[in-house]
Parts: sequence; C-alpha cells; structure tokens
Amino acid sequence: MTKYKLEYIWLDGYKPTPNLRGKTQIKEFDHFPSLDELPLWGFDGSSTQQAEGHSSDCVLKPVALYPDPARKNGVLVMCEVMMPDGVTPHSTNARATILDDEGAWFGFEQEYFFYKDGRPLGFPEHGYPAPQGPYYTGVGFKNVGDVAREIVEEHLELCLEAGINHEGINAEVAKGQWEFQIFGKGSKKAADEVWMARYLLLRLTEKYGVDIEFHCKPLGDTDWNGSGMHANFSTEYLRTVGGKDYFEALMAAFDKNLMDHIAVYGPDNDKRLTGKHETAPWNKFSYGIADRGASIRVPHSFIKNDYKGYLEDRRPNSQGDPYAIASQILKTVSEVPTKAVAAA
Ligand code: ADP
Ligand code: MN
Ligand code: MN
Ligand code: MN
Repeated sequence: MTKYKLEYIWLDGYKPTPNLRGKTQIKEFDHFPSLDELPLWGFDGSSTQQAEGHSSDCVLKPVALYPDPARKNGVLVMCEVMMPDGVTPHSTNARATILDDEGAWFGFEQEYFFYKDGRPLGFPEHGYPAPQGPYYTGVGFKNVGDVAREIVEEHLELCLEAGINHEGINAEVAKGQWEFQIFGKGSKKAADEVWMARYLLLRLTEKYGVDIEFHCKPLGDTDWNGSGMHANFSTEYLRTVGGKDYFEALMAAFDKNLMDHIAVYGPDNDKRLTGKHETAPWNKFSYGIADRGASIRVPHSFIKNDYKGYLEDRRPNSQGDPYAIASQILKTVSEVPTKAVAAA
C-alpha cells in the first residue's frame, strides 16, 4: 500500500469571485486512486463564507483528479461543495448546474499580472517602466526581467505533468503581464482545468514571494492593458455545418443576451472593456473579422471555411469564473435553431 497525499481543492463563497481553497488528507491505496475511490470530505464553511458558525459543515465531493507533480504520491482533487446531505449542491457551487456538452470545445486564454511589493513585477518603486510596446511576446531582461520566465516555464511543466491541456504561453502587452491557454472539450472539463492551472500558479509562486493579480484592470485608467480571459469556442454544429445564416443568427442572439454575458464575464469589466487597448465597449455588442477591437473576433479561417470553425469572445476577463462563462455561451448557442432542428 502507498500513502497518497490527496489535495482536495474547492471554490469558496467570496463575492464577486471565489477564491481557491485546499487541504490535504492522506489515504492508502495500492494504485493511483480513481475518482470513485475517493471519499467525500468536509470543511468548516463558516471560514469560507459558505456557512454560519452554528452549522458550519460543508461537504467536498471529488469531481476531477490530476496527478500532483509537485508532491511524491500526490493527487490534486477538484471538488464541488455540497450541503451536509452530500447530494444537494451548495448555493456557491456553480459547476453543479452549468450547461455542458462534450461537443462544445473551449480554449481559454488566461491573462494575469505577477505582483510583488504591491506593483507589477518589474515596475520601479516609483513611477512607471518604459511604455508598452516591447513587452508582448518579448525577450530579454529589460522586457521580462529575471524571474518571470522561470515561473511560467515551471508552471507549464506542472500543468503538463498534471495532465492539464495547457496549450501555450506568451508574455503579454503590459510589463509583468503573462498569458497561458487551456483547451478542453466540454465546459466542465475545460473550466476544471483552468481552475486547476490557476491553483498551480498560485501555489508555485508562493516560494518566489510573488503574487498573481487576476483583477482585470489592476493599473486602472492608465495606458497599461488590462487582463482578459478570451473564450474561444466551437460546437460540433459550428465546426461541421456552420454557414453564414446560422452565424448571423448566432451573433444576433449574442447581441440580444449582451447583459447576461457581461453579468458572468468577471467583475469590474467596464473598467477594462472601454474601447481602448484592444477591447470593445462593454455595453455594445460587435463582431468583426480578425478584429481585436470587437466583442467577438471571427478568425479569417472561419470565413474561408464557409463560416465553420471557432469564434473568440474577447469580453470575459481574467477574474471570471470559466464555469459560468462557458455555460452562458452554451445557453446563447442553444437559443439559435440549427438546420436540423428547424427542419424537424
Ligand atoms: P490569440 O492570442 O491570437 O487570440 P491564442 O493562440 O492565445 O490566440 O488562443 C487561441 C485559442 O483558441 C487556444 O486556446 C485554442 O485552444 C483555441 N481554439 C483553437 N481551435 C478551437 C476550436 N475549434 N474550438 C475552441 N477553441 C479553439
Ligand atoms: Mn492569446
Ligand atoms: Mn492575450
Ligand atoms: Mn485572444
């Protein structure tokens, strides 16, 4: 038998966006455990804004597993928070009620800032570094400093070893700002992996004395970019049938549901979606071919391929909950009749 270190990870009840929490229990198995072998567990919900002190037990239900590359015999256990009966989802458990569809593919581009001493990593103590320009996809000490790349490389390695579908990295437009991309088939799978990648990044940077700033506009109304989490998506219908009529009906539905999307695309997004810095104004829906100033960017390949392929919703922000974002996209998609449905 081997003693496995099981890190149960969940989202707390903080608003507007939850924080990641985790605690370890040791269990013996004679092989790497599977999901159905992991027990329910509990925690003190009164310390995470998920319960009152007089009735504080919440239940953790394992829903996804990843080998933990940073620990010998470690397992990262993504959990949903349940009521004490173990079967009713807690009100803060968004994952339990989202729309899912294995044929829907999501690619999330998670942007974030490294922060140290209350400012982006690489910013001088007073004032600002040289203006934006050379930092995006940049190389060299004056552009990326001496530690950021070490962290992102280590994070990439951790994600790949954990089996997370990490697809790439780049230095971003602002100094101290970076991005990684996670791709998954199905909203739960893709969103679980985004949350787990965030967890690994937060845990990794502890030893560097560096924080991750997920806020979408940490430098406020300045000439420094904010952070997004562009959601690239495609459904089986979009990939295989598509067509101009369907695409235009889909865009009309996105326009109609503008406020429902903005409501789950992350807090303070009006500070980021200003119409400047490669964004569209938050209160007006638009789409455009290869247009990084539109709400939805339509890749050239989509048009060339007879309106088939994937689309990029550029509005979700770095602090958004990928469960809610993916679910809202699927909800709007579900309102648009496909040819097969229309003919039936
Ligand atoms: P950019 O920075 O130019 O917007 P990225 O390369 O950072 O683009 O991100 C593109 C994302 O699109 C990747 O996460 C990728 O997984 C995703 N993607 C590619 N094809 C599809 C598809 N068919 N469905 C959903 N997402 C896709
Ligand atoms: Mn990108
Ligand atoms: Mn980017
Ligand atoms: Mn993008």
